[in-house]
Amino acid sequence: MDETEQTALPPFADRLAAVEDRIAAACARAGRDRSEVTLVGVSKTQPPEVVSEAVRAGLSTLGENRVQEALAKAPLCPSADWHLIGPLQKNKVRHALSLFSTIHAVDSLATLEAIARVSEETGARPDVMLEVNVADEATKHGFSPVSVRDAVRASLDLGGLRLVGLMCIPPWAPEPEASRPRFRALRELRDSLERDFSVALPQLSMGMSGDFEGAVEEGATFVRVGTALFGRRNAAAWWPERSPDSDSYFV
Ligand SMILES: *Cc1c(COP(=O)(O)O)cnc(C)c1O
Repeated sequence: MDETEQTALPPFADRLAAVEDRIAAACARAGRDRSEVTLVGVSKTQPPEVVSEAVRAGLSTLGENRVQEALAKAPLCPSADWHLIGPLQKNKVRHALSLFSTIHAVDSLATLEAIARVSEETGARPDVMLEVNVADEATKHGFSPVSVRDAVRASLDLGGLRLVGLMCIPPWAPEPEASRPRFRALRELRDSLERDFSVALPQLSMGMSGDFEGAVEEGATFVRVGTALFGRRNAAAWWPERSPDSDSYFV
């Protein structure tokens, strides 16, 4: 039995309480109501028994970055609200919409159109956010701050689509404050899209374990927190990103 890593962690309920306290404190600093922010517990690579313990401890929203991995875990956690936080290819849309209530990171028009088509057909209607490559990194998915305008414009004509906001993953940086200007830029981009297209884009998915407090202060409505809740993942293989096509269960 491998006890080395798990025994070093406090019980999940304690870790959840600690993250909750930090979110509440960030809300208080920013004069926001705690109910404006949803904690998405990122359970990717975590085995189903760990995920169901998290749900029993009170975590209600789970984020996964691979469709097949989430579909494999979902039967064990029937009460959870599943969010897809990783990239979605258009050939996986039908599967994705069978589980996820919310899709955080759409990065192509083709995928947007596929979501609209399948939504109209099945009535699934997930909430959808567009990923924006805020720092123009060659290795990252996402629309540029310029091309995202075309995507929002196109979405206005897509009947089955519920576009609700934007998402970003800032460049990795050791100090959390480095992300703050990126979070602010995403909020300002959202504000300008709302003005220019007369649409409501209330959701901002931004902030991870290393920087979620600043994200909350800058207006995040979803924070995607993995390591701070679940401890270290089995391998540091998701960054740079694993292939979204790989269906292997563990990294
Ligand atoms: C893995 C992942 C996270 C969580 O990262 P942590 O640093 O472990 O909190 C958040 N967002 C996305 C898109 C991810 O893939």
